[in-house]
Amino acid sequence: MMGADKVDVIVVGGGTAGCSFVSHLCAVSDLSVSLYEAGSSFSSHPNNLFTSMARSGVMDTSQTATAVANGDSYEYLQAQVLGGGSAVNGLIALRGAIDDFNEWCEYDGLADWSWERVEPWFRMIGAPTTLLDECAPQSLARILHDSWPGSLAVPLAVAHNARQSADGKRLDVARESGRLSIHTSAPVARVLFTGSRATAVELADGSRHEARNIVICAGALRTPVLLGRSGVDAEGLGENLQDHPNVMFAARRRGPFNGDLPVTRYVPLKGDSDADAPDVAHILSYEQIDTDAHLGGIGVSLMDVHSRGSLVELPDGGWKAEFRCLSDKRDLQTMVRVVRDASTVLASTNLSGTFDDNDALRLATDMQRIAAMTDQDLTEWLQRHVRTLSHATGTCAMGTVCDARGQVADIDGLWVADASLMPRIVRANTNETVAMMATRVAQFVADA
Ligand SMILES: Cc1cc2nc3c(=O)[nH]c(=O)nc-3n(C[C@H](O)[C@H](O)[C@H](O)COP(=O)(O)OP(=O)(O)OC[C@H]3O[C@@H](n4cnc5c(N)ncnc54)[C@H](O)[C@@H]3O)c2cc1C
Repeated sequence: MMGADKVDVIVVGGGTAGCSFVSHLCAVSDLSVSLYEAGSSFSSHPNNLFTSMARSGVMDTSQTATAVANGDSYEYLQAQVLGGGSAVNGLIALRGAIDDFNEWCEYDGLADWSWERVEPWFRMIGAPTTLLDECAPQSLARILHDSWPGSLAVPLAVAHNARQSADGKRLDVARESGRLSIHTSAPVARVLFTGSRATAVELADGSRHEARNIVICAGALRTPVLLGRSGVDAEGLGENLQDHPNVMFAARRRGPFNGDLPVTRYVPLKGDSDADAPDVAHILSYEQIDTDAHLGGIGVSLMDVHSRGSLVELPDGGWKAEFRCLSDKRDLQTMVRVVRDASTVLASTNLSGTFDDNDALRLATDMQRIAAMTDQDLTEWLQRHVRTLSHATGTCAMGTVCDARGQVADIDGLWVADASLMPRIVRANTNETVAMMATRVAQFVADA
């Protein structure tokens, strides 16, 4: 049965993108909006990534993934709560690199996404100004031996010691406008169409709700599945899947951490390029990954990603995310080189000041073993151990599935505003870029 509550805009998914979209739309227009979020709403957000993930009912555990072709399947955790990733993530708050957007704007039809055009939008959402590409590449050996001076203390989405998630103050202001209704525990089953126009959504409970515009913000792994299930058959849907490959060496810290906030340091490493500008392709991070368990870690991530995967339908009707990390030779070569470099330096570094004695010994032994591997052995080791940073993007990319304003090609009234839109993954953690894009798409919808 159709609900009597026809609104101007329905937003599906109240994560980073959905909340950012709604906040801006309510600020710049008089449009009425209904937001449907599959998860519930937090009363307070823990700062610690692992504490928030351990909370029952805030993560969607139904997604399986493989990091590399023919690799082991594993559970790929995604947020399922109002605020989405921004309510549970590792808090790292970095914008994409200048070059990311200057590359995007070279794609057909995407001239409007140059750095010059997006920078004011980053400023509008209050994204931290620190950019990895402003940080000169460092020598890893020097940094480790000098206890990390010169590395970048990563900005966090924290104010007054508390997580700043997308369902925070700006959404409260939107709520007060009286034009926004938020429905939690309300998963949308499909989008309904009249001719070539999207006109309504059907919830899992069978209720139907109409709107002039429908904006999908269900995240890069759920948005294309929802669109496919609704009968959208756009070329490229579910393709172009990217994430940042990562290997993490976790170890117990020697002593307790100070406070409850994660401490992360990034070391942008120089890549192969001869360019004068710092190359932020390779980053070594050192993180306080779980305060309760005193767990720290040293991770090597590839931020300049060329490999692409896709969502693949399973015989039982479910979907698997096949990232196919390192399938592009450039990614594999870089990862082999950087993991070996990092292991070589770490093998000769005294880690016992930082880590528990047993863990320091184990790490040193692991590092020596990895540093001594041939390229072939290291490639095989990476195929078994690489995972990703939970930064899925690209599956409804602008320029293929959607136009440069986020509208699904050839379908009136249907938009995407989340991480799926990125034509190529940025060389940074993704949350700030997603929030910026969703805010911009809200302006496009307001102006439509
Ligand atoms: C564990 C983890 C750690 C991360 N750490 C960082 C970090 O430190 N820094 C950083 O920048 N990025 C980080 N990220 C990535 C970042 O959080 C994401 O890029 C960002 O949240 C993506 O925003 P989104 O709106 O596209 O998707 P999400 O934020 O995932 O939001 C999607 C929302 O849609 C809802 N939904 C899905 N399907 C439906 C449906 N059918 N009906 C209704 N609602 C639906 C979901 O419940 C969810 O709330 C991390 C992500 C994870 C999961």
